[in-house]
Amino acid sequence: MIIVMVLLLLGGRHFEKLSNHSYLQDLRLSETLELIEIREKLELYIFGHFLQVEKLASFIKSNPDMTQEEFAVVAARLQESMPDIINFEAAQGLTVSHVYPYAENKHLIGLNFAEYPTLLEYADRVSAKKSALLTGPVKAPSGEYLMFFKTPIFLPSSDGGATEEFWGFATVVVRLDDMLGQTGFRELAETVDYVILSENDDLSEPQVVAGNPGVQGRDPVSLDVDFPNGAWEVQTTPKGGWPETAPTLVRDRLILLMISLVCLSILGYILYISRANRLARARLAGAINAMDDGFAQFDSEQRLVKYNKRYASFLSGVSDILRPGVTLTELLEEGLKRGNFVDAFGQEEAWYKERKKEIDSAQAKREMRFSNGLTVHAAIHKTSDGGSVVILSDVTQLKNALERSQAASEAKSQFISVLSHELRTPLTVVLGLAKLTHEIERQPAYVALETALHKDPVDVEECRKALRGLADQIKSVTGKQTNSASYLLELINEMLDFSKIESGNPDIDMTECEIGDLVTTVEQQMRRLIEDKHLAFVVEYEDGKVLADCKRTRQILTNLLGNAAKFTERGFIALTVTHKEGEVHFNVEDSGPGIEEADRQRIFEPFEQVDSSLTRSKTGTGLGLAISRKLARAQSGDLLVESTPGKGSLFTLVLKPVEIREEQASLSA
Ligand code: ADP
Repeated sequence: MIIVMVLLLLGGRHFEKLSNHSYLQDLRLSETLELIEIREKLELYIFGHFLQVEKLASFIKSNPDMTQEEFAVVAARLQESMPDIINFEAAQGLTVSHVYPYAENKHLIGLNFAEYPTLLEYADRVSAKKSALLTGPVKAPSGEYLMFFKTPIFLPSSDGGATEEFWGFATVVVRLDDMLGQTGFRELAETVDYVILSENDDLSEPQVVAGNPGVQGRDPVSLDVDFPNGAWEVQTTPKGGWPETAPTLVRDRLILLMISLVCLSILGYILYISRANRLARARLAGAINAMDDGFAQFDSEQRLVKYNKRYASFLSGVSDILRPGVTLTELLEEGLKRGNFVDAFGQEEAWYKERKKEIDSAQAKREMRFSNGLTVHAAIHKTSDGGSVVILSDVTQLKNALERSQAASEAKSQFISVLSHELRTPLTVVLGLAKLTHEIERQPAYVALETALHKDPVDVEECRKALRGLADQIKSVTGKQTNSASYLLELINEMLDFSKIESGNPDIDMTECEIGDLVTTVEQQMRRLIEDKHLAFVVEYEDGKVLADCKRTRQILTNLLGNAAKFTERGFIALTVTHKEGEVHFNVEDSGPGIEEADRQRIFEPFEQVDSSLTRSKTGTGLGLAISRKLARAQSGDLLVESTPGKGSLFTLVLKPVEIREEQASLSA
């Protein structure tokens, strides 16, 4: 912008100079033209007066002895055509002999040129030239400046020889003022300064005839005026000299200023537009780069024009050739060669043909799997300029989520069948036993009692025995019913608990829990169950405190011990607590069947069981471990598993000790 302003200033300055120069040229030209016009008038004037003096001379030549009256008649006639001539004069030898008009000039009669050096010198020059001469100005006693047209008169030799005989001079006199007035100098003087210089034969300084001598030093316009036996030079300048600047300077400067302003505005506008354009491009590029989708633009020749980072990440397999100019077909062919397209495996040719057709028609919407593990939804759209735009949307997560949801749905169906089995078994037991109770009369214990009562005499001891048998049977039935109902209740509670945790709303009340209290309570609760299965139950712990929900921690440990007891047929079960690297580990180890590597993560998913067949030997819903891990994590802990199939499993509940929490609190404070 600054450069343009400087250029405009320099240009303006140059233009101003040119404009001044051209103005001065015009001025000189117009003055020259004016001078040419004046020169014509001046030459006409001078020639006219030379003619008059020659006419007078030729009259004298033919009448050398004329009288004053005869001279006056001829002069009067000549004056009629040129009234500005104030004196017609004839001088015989060097002495004035005739004048006209007589009254005004009679005092000149008898004037001898020889007595006046100027007049003598003039007379000498005229006689030497032998032809008419113009001279002046000469200041008259009246103060007027006069111009003289003088010609010598030679008479033919009286003896008829070739040499002529000098008679004298004929002269006409005009006022310089009249001459200047008639030739237009007076009007010229209104607009210009002029000077008329007479050039001398002897190369001496030219003499000023009229005007302002100062004009000579001001680089004037000059023009020569030639006439017989003499030449003048007329020089002019505008009044006061040449102007420094053109009168249109202010106007020119204003015009220049306006042009500069318009140029600057246009330039500013162009800069603004190009800046706005750059900004818009940068914004567009930023927006395209910020897109979650891959974006690539191709021209009508399928050549890559623009693409974003996401697009490059999708096409990481051909990143070395991905640059503007590469064609979509080249990308396809190279990708295919490098095995980037999972869907093409085993059917490369057919797959390529189909994709090529889609590229050529610039219309397609399809899912594609890349060998870098990404699944994309690819769409090609035609653009108005004959090119195309490719949008790649990452659907990997969607796809995975879909697969997970399908798996979850399968797991749920599995669960429904497991659940119905779990519910049906105890309910069948309850119903079967209820039926048994309902048909008590048909039961052997009842029949035995009835038979004993119908005996005569009644054997009291036998009756008592039969009654005890009946009571035992009733006890056994109700006992089994109670067990089944309890199991049902437990199952329903577990499901409610899980749904509560799943909805992200587990009741967690973090407090300081004594490790000893936790372990002892769980041990008391589970020892009987474990020992009933003839398993050794080892309990060891280091004292300390954990920051946890005590009730939920007990629930997790009970669940782990319950599972260990459920799946272990012989050997041991151990509950140990150790402090390890700022954590507290509650380990539940057993010598059960163990869990295969492939199943170790799966069992923490809800409804997942290693064996979920209906014919499996163990009861369970597949919710216990899922609930336990979520509860552990809700307490900022975790639940981990290690196992050697055939040897046993180790479940570890990881919690934070209270000391560490306090240390961390003091550190962050
Ligand atoms: P449930 O015991 O009700 O089936 P869980 O979520 O507690 O559900 O356990 C899921 C599965 O993990 C069990 O079905 C079992 O296959 C496996 N499992 C859990 N604990 C053990 C263990 N101690 N030994 C062997 N397998 C186990």
